[in-house]
Amino acid sequence: VQVTHAPPQLVSGCEWDKLSEGIWNKFMIHQQTEITYRKKILLWKCLSDFIQSSFPRYGLFLVGSTMSGFGSDASDVDMCLLVRHTEVAQRSEAVIHLKYVLKHLRRCKHLTRPELIQAKVPILKFRDTSFSLDVDLNCNNSVGIRNTHLLHCYSQMDWRVRPLVLIVKLWAHKHDINNAQHMTISSYSLVLMVIHFLQCGVAPPVLPCLHEMYQGKFTPHSDVLMIDMHEDLQPFNSDNNQALGELLHDFLRYYVEFDFSQYAISVRLASRVPIEECSALACRNYPYQRKYLCIEEPFDLTNTARSVYNHGVFERVKAVFRTSYNNLKETRNIESIFHLDKND
Ligand code: ATP
Ligand code: MG
Repeated sequence: VQVTHAPPQLVSGCEWDKLSEGIWNKFMIHQQTEITYRKKILLWKCLSDFIQSSFPRYGLFLVGSTMSGFGSDASDVDMCLLVRHTEVAQRSEAVIHLKYVLKHLRRCKHLTRPELIQAKVPILKFRDTSFSLDVDLNCNNSVGIRNTHLLHCYSQMDWRVRPLVLIVKLWAHKHDINNAQHMTISSYSLVLMVIHFLQCGVAPPVLPCLHEMYQGKFTPHSDVLMIDMHEDLQPFNSDNNQALGELLHDFLRYYVEFDFSQYAISVRLASRVPIEECSALACRNYPYQRKYLCIEEPFDLTNTARSVYNHGVFERVKAVFRTSYNNLKETRNIESIFHLDKND
């Protein structure tokens, strides 16, 4: 479990200013605690044993922010049901497996509000009342296991990554621009936006390109059963000494100035890619993937931001970035990006 206790000024040579301190304090308050992490592990273990007692072919994986290091204490629990021998399942097949599990889980009194969302990636949602945890369970979405591992590795590269990601998630949540079901940006896409910025929106970079650094490690076809979710990679010794506050300011500026009509965001290549070239990756073969915001999924090369398909909503998202950037530039106070003036 990644819980940070050490004040960062003691572990780095970075300048420590009021804004950075504000970000750090919010991070300390909202990061996933060890207690919550342990509850999630316990729940996973119970569910895993319960499901396997009836379906020995099913394996249960913990994915998402519980494991990546980017969770807040209020984050849900994401799990992936892996059905052996059918790694690339059809959507309809996934629904069938999730319905079996749903029927089985109805026998547990402490699991309430079960609901099967039959979206492009079907999800079984429910709440565990004994631990007060919300669960999202998908089926055979093995890409989620791979990308959670990748995110976990990025979270360890530099101590500034986790506070920066968490503050961006809290901020986006506050302004209701962090909800794929409301056509805005999913948490996963936000994390990729922060990593991309730290790879190529600052000089020198804070983050390396792990796909390039560890060739053959982060591939779409490796055996997911061999992935070590707790893997400890060497931290990246960045020459960039920017403080947290300055990085947040630059993050907002980077995306205020970003030309979304021309470029896609790629963490896999640690660069922005002209949409036409990215089309070779995702958009040409799947034109429906080309939306207002293109963020390349590092393994299956789809667009993780395809939920942002409404022009008005996209304009609102951009306005939140713009106003927040202007406020932060002017005040250098973290609260100024959480309480935007309604007229802005
Ligand atoms: P939160 O802390 O807000 O719950 P999160 O980091 O768990 O955020 P989610 O958006 O809930 O992020 O996604 C959970 C996991 O699902 C991600 O870590 C990723 O593994 C997987 N995932 C989500 N969206 C996609 C996508 N478009 N393509 C592939 N995997 C995805
Ligand atoms: Mg989640």
